[in-house]
Amino acid sequence: MKQTDVIAAIASPVGSGAISVIRISGEESWKIVNSTLNKKITSPTPRQIYKRLIVDNNGVADEVLLVFYKSPRSYTGEDMVEIFCHGGYVVTNMVLNTILNAGARQAEPGEFTKRAFLNGKLDLSEAEAVRELIEAKAENEARAYLKNLLGGIRKFVESLRQNLMEIMAEIEVELDYPDDFEMDKERIEKKLVMVKDDMEEIVKKAEYSVRASQGIRLVIVGKPNVGKSTLFNRLLKEDRAIVTSIPGTTRDVISEDINIMGQYYKLLDTAGLRSSEDHVEKIGVERTRKEINRGDIILFVVDPTQGIDEQDLEIYSIVREKPHIIIINKVDISNIPQEICNTFSEEKIVKISAITGEGLENLENAINDLAKVYVESLSGNVILTTQRQKELLESSLYHIKEAMKSLYNGFPSDIISIDIRKAIEKLDAITGRNFTDDLLDTIFSNFCVGK
Ligand code: GDP
Repeated sequence: MKQTDVIAAIASPVGSGAISVIRISGEESWKIVNSTLNKKITSPTPRQIYKRLIVDNNGVADEVLLVFYKSPRSYTGEDMVEIFCHGGYVVTNMVLNTILNAGARQAEPGEFTKRAFLNGKLDLSEAEAVRELIEAKAENEARAYLKNLLGGIRKFVESLRQNLMEIMAEIEVELDYPDDFEMDKERIEKKLVMVKDDMEEIVKKAEYSVRASQGIRLVIVGKPNVGKSTLFNRLLKEDRAIVTSIPGTTRDVISEDINIMGQYYKLLDTAGLRSSEDHVEKIGVERTRKEINRGDIILFVVDPTQGIDEQDLEIYSIVREKPHIIIINKVDISNIPQEICNTFSEEKIVKISAITGEGLENLENAINDLAKVYVESLSGNVILTTQRQKELLESSLYHIKEAMKSLYNGFPSDIISIDIRKAIEKLDAITGRNFTDDLLDTIFSNFCVGK
């Protein structure tokens, strides 16, 4: 294990609370912490809880409980100490500062988990799951991340790798002894098909699981004044978007995280999409088009008091390319004209009043129906949740398919081996068997300090 300096950070949220946790990791971590204690413990028993006073230059900083973890049986794999001190901003920082003054260094974001990765305690997919788990916005997501933290992706990838390594071994024997050994093409083909099928299943699901874990993008569109912002607030159950009766006031796209029936969504309210000469409004229109394209489920709002016009039809022509729900709003003050029923006769229509909340449950059910494929993608044993994992598995799959083509075409085995090797390389990048410092920086800089 590489010798490292001692890092320290507050691991619990900042603010008032009963208890804060301060983590310290590195070879000399106990020595540093011990130097701040009122009664020294030279040889602490690992995983035993001690009660002590932490003392700084001005006297007692806090009365704390502390635990020593002996390498390699700790989160980072190094010697570690956890201090449980009184909660609250001031006391927690007094304790942390005492430890820093005694020789530790403030940890960078994600530095504990990075050390855990470098010491082989976690692979990269598990490290990614740590961050995702603590940021999870819905229970089904949290459960998916937990599966990954417990090795879901790692075990899947390692078993694919194992199969590919066996194929490589056979090919290499043929390459080394071309006169004496011929590889069993049928067996290799069978194995490649198996690997390909397993990968395809997960890649297909990842199309949805990555989106679901980033929040399914629920985009509200419609011409000005149909009630988009009112609906946005209604779904959010609070006043967030500015609601006015002057058309075109919501010029920017507003986004909030919401939870509908246990699934996490990113709810986006767009500016009125309309053909306008007004420059500011035009920017809004372009962004709305973009939001529809980037959206997963589109909520298209129409207003029966205004009737259906060219603007509605223009928006509808973009909306219909995506999974969508047609929402007839303001049913509290209007009947639904026949022309609206005719225009959307084939469609899933939900009638609501964003003001009174009438029909909202139907709307949430309709959203839930369209989101099913995303929700289902978060179940199962292997769930890719980051774009990085998805792209690497796709790329590995591409090389497997290339290898299969070469095999069918009777190409020499060294050509086949090139693609299999590349497929393995991509798998190794998922788990971090191979990595670059840049990659680690990108992954771990997104962590919070103390994790
Ligand atoms: P947006 O421009 O599409 O975002 O529309 P707003 O949400 O700002 O609403 C425009 C006007 O319609 C406001 O005066 C709202 O109070 C009103 N409004 C919105 N939804 C309803 C509804 O369901 N019933 C009634 N009666 N008025 C509504």
